[in-house]
Amino acid sequence: MSEPLLFDRSSPGRKGYSLPACDVPERPVADLIPAPYLRRTAAELPQLSEPDVVRHFTHLSKLNYSIDSGFYPLGSCTMKYNPKVNEVTVNQPGWRSIHPYQPEATVQGALHLMYDLQDLLCEIAGMDAMTLQPAAGAHGELTGLLMIQAYHRSRGEGHRNEVIAPDSSHGTNPATASMVGYTLITVRSDERGRVDLNELKSLVSDRTAALMLTNPSTLGLFDEQVLDMSEMVHEAGGLMYYDGANLNAIMGIARPGDMGFDVVHINLHKTFTTPHGGGGPGAGPVGVKQILEPFLPMPAIGRRDEQYFLDYARDHTIGKVRSFYGNFGMLVRAYTYIRRMGSDGLSQVSRDAVLSANYLRSRLNDLYDEGYPGPNMQEFVLSGRRQRKSGVRTMDIAKRLIDYGFHPPTVYFPLIVDEALMIEPTETENKDTLDAFVDAMRSIAREAEETPELVTGAPLTTSIGRLDEVRAARFPDLRWRPEKVEDAATG
Ligand SMILES: *Cc1c(COP(=O)(O)O)cnc(C)c1O
Repeated sequence: MSEPLLFDRSSPGRKGYSLPACDVPERPVADLIPAPYLRRTAAELPQLSEPDVVRHFTHLSKLNYSIDSGFYPLGSCTMKYNPKVNEVTVNQPGWRSIHPYQPEATVQGALHLMYDLQDLLCEIAGMDAMTLQPAAGAHGELTGLLMIQAYHRSRGEGHRNEVIAPDSSHGTNPATASMVGYTLITVRSDERGRVDLNELKSLVSDRTAALMLTNPSTLGLFDEQVLDMSEMVHEAGGLMYYDGANLNAIMGIARPGDMGFDVVHINLHKTFTTPHGGGGPGAGPVGVKQILEPFLPMPAIGRRDEQYFLDYARDHTIGKVRSFYGNFGMLVRAYTYIRRMGSDGLSQVSRDAVLSANYLRSRLNDLYDEGYPGPNMQEFVLSGRRQRKSGVRTMDIAKRLIDYGFHPPTVYFPLIVDEALMIEPTETENKDTLDAFVDAMRSIAREAEETPELVTGAPLTTSIGRLDEVRAARFPDLRWRPEKVEDAATG
């Protein structure tokens, strides 16, 4: 790294503050803190001025890439711009300063917002009821499958122990199924990238608890056989689970509820512009059809005589799935976005997202192979097959894009496309940005043929080159220690 670490800039006596002399009588520390808890040697804190600290953190912040710094075409994850009006709203003192233990009468506005957001999301997804508690899409999947399990058990059908998901499904789908104790059955995609209906027919049985489907799929393809699938699964007594991570393709145009789905999760941090990534809080509300309403997590947000309240009266609830009521700040942001866009705005979002993805595909599919033929929905998958012939792998293309100033797309997923590059531009990028990305991808394709070492050696412009990802995950080095202390700790 070009800049010295914060701790290495320390110089004895440097300070970032100056306080007036204390004008209240000081009590000895030993009177306030029991002796065993008092430290005997001073903490080895760096001694720095305020500008030192500000420069250090500003430098670190510039090493990060975010949607606020550039184009971020991460397929399946819908990394779209997060409007700043969301932050203005959520930072109103009335939202920011409330506490979850406040009496209901004093937080009527917050309950009202949650109640309305549930309604809006039900309308968008075509569902009858919604819980806002889950903190992510994967958490929504867990919540949804627990409800499905509780539903089957309540009908004396606890023997249903299988969840079916396509081979294009996101890794969280099989992970969730096995976490809930289901056996995962994988259904193959056909040569068009759609579910192989004949195979599905042979897999559905009285052991089927649910079919988990992402539609449009992670290949960015809409499966028009969805009504047939719903009918097939329902006839066998199973339920339909909709992974709503790709809702940005159909919002305001088609509704999972109308396609026969019984449960839907919605990723607010994808489709509904709440901040995404960096380990920040997400939100994965789950909508259900009436038959699953008794199983929803409690409390629900209820309304009686113009008053909103936390409704704990649910006989068959699966319980609480998160502390308090969900990531409330995210709910305020998503609500702001929905109200700001209106229903015409939301459907325009989907149209523009689909248009952008098809535009990119049509400008790149002469130099890169396509995973499956289009037209596609909100994203598309290319294959680095052709580039591999000159020794350039998809990972190299991804790293080279960093040199061109772009965040790489999702790579090596979905698993059913060789050397996959999964690109989702979203609706929030203008044509100039899309064209600049096309130019970069086209030059990388040329480089792969003419100067492959340039691509395999990328990135060349970052402060750190390629990481040893296995080592970074297994032996994370997250803490700086002054040498003396380190000696003492290891000695
Ligand atoms: C992102 C994603 C998930 C998981 O959602 P998280 O909010 O990241 O937990 C599930 N399925 C698909 C298709 C996704 O893209």
